[in-house]
Amino acid sequence: MEYMNVFLEELIQKYSSDKKGAQASYIPELAKVNPDYFGIAVVTVDGDVYSAGDIEQNFTLQSASKPFVYGMALEEHGREFIRARVGVEPSGEAFNSIVELEKNTHRPYNPMINSGAIAISSYIQDKDKIKRLERVLNLFGDYVNHPVSVDEAVFQSEKKTAHRNRSIAHLLRHFDVIGDDIEESLDLYFKQCSVLINTVDLATMAATLANNGVQPKSQKQVIKEEYVSDMLSLMFTCGMYDTAGEWAYTVGLPAKSGVSGCILAVVPGKMGIAAYSPLIDQHGHSVRSVNAIKDLVKKYNLSIFKS
Ligand code: GLN
Repeated sequence: MEYMNVFLEELIQKYSSDKKGAQASYIPELAKVNPDYFGIAVVTVDGDVYSAGDIEQNFTLQSASKPFVYGMALEEHGREFIRARVGVEPSGEAFNSIVELEKNTHRPYNPMINSGAIAISSYIQDKDKIKRLERVLNLFGDYVNHPVSVDEAVFQSEKKTAHRNRSIAHLLRHFDVIGDDIEESLDLYFKQCSVLINTVDLATMAATLANNGVQPKSQKQVIKEEYVSDMLSLMFTCGMYDTAGEWAYTVGLPAKSGVSGCILAVVPGKMGIAAYSPLIDQHGHSVRSVNAIKDLVKKYNLSIFKS
């Protein structure tokens, strides 16, 4: 790990000139973000931080929020309840696909795609007089060890243009996967996607999963240990959607991307990795982040199949 900071800096230099991809434009506010932002960070289970680039630049979690809220739903309802409603199979489809709801048992294939994640958000309810949004914000606050907030402009932007996600939610209602609080559940989903964090925060969230759910700095058990493997196995098989197979083959780590341009990856028992750069490919993955994480994993032999 001695030269990790130097290597991370080299990755920033190597890929900064790569202008492939585009900002997500279906959420207009995301298209306004500076495409040059690029940060990468590693946080170990002992809380050591290595980083380079624009690591203090905030961005919205987007789909990187999905595994964490899934974990929260598991804690709240148990495995049986959740599995009866949302599957654990990769869909082989794009993250925002609606077709698979017409197939199978009319259940979302998994919680890492939009249909499954919207269902999962609907199961997070007010509890002990704490509102559902506050519970979700507290959850992310626990993972990063400081309070977090919602980017209101990104939230409003997505809410206004979310015709596809709204269709998914109504189809979920039609098949009795979710209840009548459709708009409220969508709002919660859009807000969890709009939570602001930076690259070191995201690597810290990944490190918490690497550390069996214990936040490396606060030492708080943020998610029950028994559910961490549920989250990681689904990140591994479904976290990168229709490139999950390619990712498993070339990288070999549980991971999750978000259309803001972030990716987190988990090296169980060792460290969390995160990268952020807004230009994304047609699958919704940051081009620079994919390349940088691939190089890092290769250099340090981090694949779970190589340990
Ligand atoms: N909020 C985004 C959406 O629902 C998240 C998608 C993503 O990051 N892949 O479309």
